[in-house]
Amino acid sequence: MSVQWGMVTSVVMPGGWHYVQNLSGGLTHKIIGFSFEQLLDNILEFRRRHIELCGSESASIEAVRSDLRTYLCTHFRQNCAGSHSVPHVGGIGIVNQGYHRPIDRAGNWLAEVSKHKNEFVDIGLAGQRAQICAQCPSNIRWETPCAPCNENIQVRLQNFKGNLRTPYDSHLFMCRVFGHVNQASIWMIDTQSTPIHEVPAHCWKISEHGN
Ligand code: SF4
Repeated sequence: MSVQWGMVTSVVMPGGWHYVQNLSGGLTHKIIGFSFEQLLDNILEFRRRHIELCGSESASIEAVRSDLRTYLCTHFRQNCAGSHSVPHVGGIGIVNQGYHRPIDRAGNWLAEVSKHKNEFVDIGLAGQRAQICAQCPSNIRWETPCAPCNENIQVRLQNFKGNLRTPYDSHLFMCRVFGHVNQASIWMIDTQSTPIHEVPAHCWKISEHGN
């Protein structure tokens, strides 16, 4: 039996190699491949061509493998070889712990920071940070087609940050590098977050020497 990334690849899945891609707005699109490897390639290519429908966070080979494995393990147990996570080491000082949906990372981060007594910066500095995040490619949307799930995060975010707001808030989402929710993190003296991807040079967390 041949196994790759927790998936059994020596047995063609029922209906042929395929994957049902969830799109923004609740739509789906079926992606097919003549082989397991080609299916992985086709999913990745589709996501890269349709970032606006799939989200930039999902357009990496790690995300594709993780999502395909989840799909197989959920629907086609004969193609599932167990473990749901694929830990691997990224660049120097960066640990990539496998793919997690942006909404899950946002929720985890909010839970973590809510355990701490947090201190906040002034509106001037928060505004500068917000302007940088708003233009950063790593500032990604975290909403899913699940409205109650989105609302849960919004309520927790609102409870956390209270009346703190900047003119850029409508352009702030979550940071795929640090995993924090940018509408809140830009106010924080300590964001309680560590990078799992390479930090871009323009990031305010670098220019402020690693808050
Ligand atoms: S990498 Fe830095 S600038 Fe970009 S979204 Fe994250 S915190 Fe903001």
